[in-house]
Amino acid sequence: MKHPLISTGVRFLDAVSDSRFYNDRVCRPQGGGSADTATVMSHNMTLGNFRYCPLCATLLAPKIDGLRERLSCPACGYIYYHNPVPAAGGIILRDGKVCLVRRSVQPRLGDWTLPAGFIEYDESPRACAEREIAEETGLIVETDAVLGVYDGFDDPRHHAILIIYHMHETEKKTLIAGDDADRAEFFAVADIPDNIAFRAHRQALHDLFGDAYPGGPTDA
Ligand SMILES: [Zn+2]
Repeated sequence: MKHPLISTGVRFLDAVSDSRFYNDRVCRPQGGGSADTATVMSHNMTLGNFRYCPLCATLLAPKIDGLRERLSCPACGYIYYHNPVPAAGGIILRDGKVCLVRRSVQPRLGDWTLPAGFIEYDESPRACAEREIAEETGLIVETDAVLGVYDGFDDPRHHAILIIYHMHETEKKTLIAGDDADRAEFFAVADIPDNIAFRAHRQALHDLFGDAYPGGPTDA
């Protein structure tokens, strides 16, 4: 069966430039709410920003593949699949307080997040979460159950899929900020800063603390 966009002659990019299509059809954010169209259009969300084939350096061109318009190489057939980037992080609690880190780099420099980061190509999500926490907090942890999996579609660098684990400390270590964090602290739920950097992290905190967390997932 033909994809409805193809059968009606609507180019996918034209449809995506319509924020109603983005909200309704492509990737509705978790928890309701509207997509941030300005963020969505800050780069080419469907095709990516690449211009040349990474295999043979020919200029890439749009091509319909798998019911989507994708960048493809007319010379060697390479197709660029523009996928979200997986990330992982964790919840570390001490006396009911949650560990957060403050970003020392852009984007959202100065805002707070759960300790987390992008998964390396040869790394499992759990190993990534444990590594990122060691780098950003100095704490030695092991993953427990998954708290949740979140779409990180308000990150201006790229769409992310964030896996957040419950964690437990395996050694007693002093909290020391590092890597791309300049502060690391434990916060009681009522004291969590307003400036949590990304929606996925606000949603995870809401899933952890429920309505006791005054932030919440629904703001864009
Ligand atoms: Zn090529």
